[in-house]
Amino acid sequence: KLQEQLIITVLGASGDLAKKLVYPALWDAYRFDSLPEDTRILGYARSKLSHEDLVERFKPQLKVNGDDDEKKRDSFLESLDYIHGQYDEAKSFKKLNEHIESMSQAKTVNRMFYIALPPSVYKDVTEQLSNHCQAKSGFTRVVVEKPFGKDLESYQDLNAHMSNLFAEDQIYRIDHYLGKEMVQNLLALRFANRVFEPSWNRHHVACVMLTMKEDFGTQGRGGYFDEFGIIRDVMQNHLLQMLTLCAMEKPVSTGPDDIRDEKTKVLRCIKPLKIEDTVLGQFVGNPEGESEESRKGYTDEEDVPNDSNTPTFATAVFHIENDRWEGVPFIIRCGKALNEKKAELRVQFRSVPADIFGNSTRNELVLRVQPDEAIYLKVLVKEPGASSEVAQTDLDLSYKCRFGEQRIPSAYERLIVSAIKGNSANFVRSDELEQAWRIFTPILHDIDAGKVKPKTYKFGSRGPSEADDLVKKHNFSYAAYEWSQCHDQ
Ligand code: NAP
Ligand code: NAP
Repeated sequence: KLQEQLIITVLGASGDLAKKLVYPALWDAYRFDSLPEDTRILGYARSKLSHEDLVERFKPQLKVNGDDDEKKRDSFLESLDYIHGQYDEAKSFKKLNEHIESMSQAKTVNRMFYIALPPSVYKDVTEQLSNHCQAKSGFTRVVVEKPFGKDLESYQDLNAHMSNLFAEDQIYRIDHYLGKEMVQNLLALRFANRVFEPSWNRHHVACVMLTMKEDFGTQGRGGYFDEFGIIRDVMQNHLLQMLTLCAMEKPVSTGPDDIRDEKTKVLRCIKPLKIEDTVLGQFVGNPEGESEESRKGYTDEEDVPNDSNTPTFATAVFHIENDRWEGVPFIIRCGKALNEKKAELRVQFRSVPADIFGNSTRNELVLRVQPDEAIYLKVLVKEPGASSEVAQTDLDLSYKCRFGEQRIPSAYERLIVSAIKGNSANFVRSDELEQAWRIFTPILHDIDAGKVKPKTYKFGSRGPSEADDLVKKHNFSYAAYEWSQCHDQ
């Protein structure tokens, strides 16, 4: 008999997230031997899907490289199991439990449930899982997707429900940004180096800017998006998580609770976001746009009401009222249908005092999360040759140049493997999330009540110009800069 076994059940296996992200991540973890031996994967949803249906669904999503991979993929697909059932019915979950038992062959059988379902069924499903599907020997863990609530009250309600059913260390709340290479790098960059930390504070930093831009609209998910808007979609979670990692104090250790204690502490020092510290936007079509998509505005999208007040763009300024950061604006910007797709963190340092060169361009440390992971520090050097002028250049670490084609696992793969290992450092703890909702709830209620109107901006632009005015007011200084890539690297 086997000693230990893991059974991963994906609830909502018939859905979009399962197809695009969860199964491909499980495949990559299997392909690169990151899953424990004797792991079995079981899908669950209401749809009656045959094994052939599963293979047809997932096969095109699973990347392969060469014949060996193809063989491995076929055996992965062959091993996938699936049963159908309801989400609110004891009978279905008893059947699920029996099915898991029938797959169990080891002394210890760990169970992980990945809830890839719409939030409307979270409560029912977690209740049924807790009542009928807990492991008899080994661990039971549930991985939950955002959104966890729509505001502080709905979050507290959902959280109270879940914490009655599972202990905090059984719940893994996914924020996939925490699985990204460069986001995980923030701690290493800050605390494994001597050079940055001494200037990482209000004495040296003029402002910090976090950006996430998309160059597409809602891609057919307008109905879903309109209920949430850009703040709930990416700012309250992904970008705020990055902010906490950038601003937190050094944790006692890299242990999950030590890190999350410090992140929560930072959030507790932030007051609720005020309307006057934001610029909201909603995109309109660009009549000169090249693609059909770009000629359409947000309210032209299917399932979006003509009078929708939902922001598709937001710039917001936060203040962290503690010793390290008082007076330093933390600016978060995010939006859809903009001029480019990127995510980055930019720490802009103050200008040098008593500047003898007459060039007050600031140093800036940029951590680019996507595309093409990079860390660069903008510095001033003397222009080569006879000139005594200084010019802006950079100390540049492009990941592709430095680390070649070394594989960077997807955020989902990394997080699933962490959850299996029981490492919750990169999952969001309940008190952290409560703080995040506290900061955003008043403004979200104002937006939902139509008290704030988003400014319009054209598809493919940099967003409303008022956003640039706001960041300028909060001490961000823009100095145009041309980068030249060194091809000899
Ligand atoms: P989805 O495809 O709409 O739903 C997943 C499955 O849930 C469906 O296949 C369907 O399965 C079942 N379902 C759909 N609507 C339902 C309803 N009203 N009541 C009960 N069951 C329903 O959703 P998804 O895009 O995979 O997203 C799942 C979760 O992940 C959501 O919370 C979403 O916010 C989050 N998420 C998604 C993405 C993404 O890229 N898709 C990214 C980040 C987070 P059956 O009919 O077969 O039961
Ligand atoms: P940048 O794209 O020039 O932008 C710098 C910042 O200024 C961004 O926050 C940008 O906002 C803002 N900005 C742009 N135009 C503005 C305007 N008219 N008014 C006010 N603010 C404005 O970035 P950069 O760091 O200086 O780099 C320049 C280029 O070199 C980028 O394409 C970068 O990717 C590249 N580069 C690459 C590497 C590398 O890959 N290793 C290293 C160094 C530089 P938006 O984000 O809204 O545009």
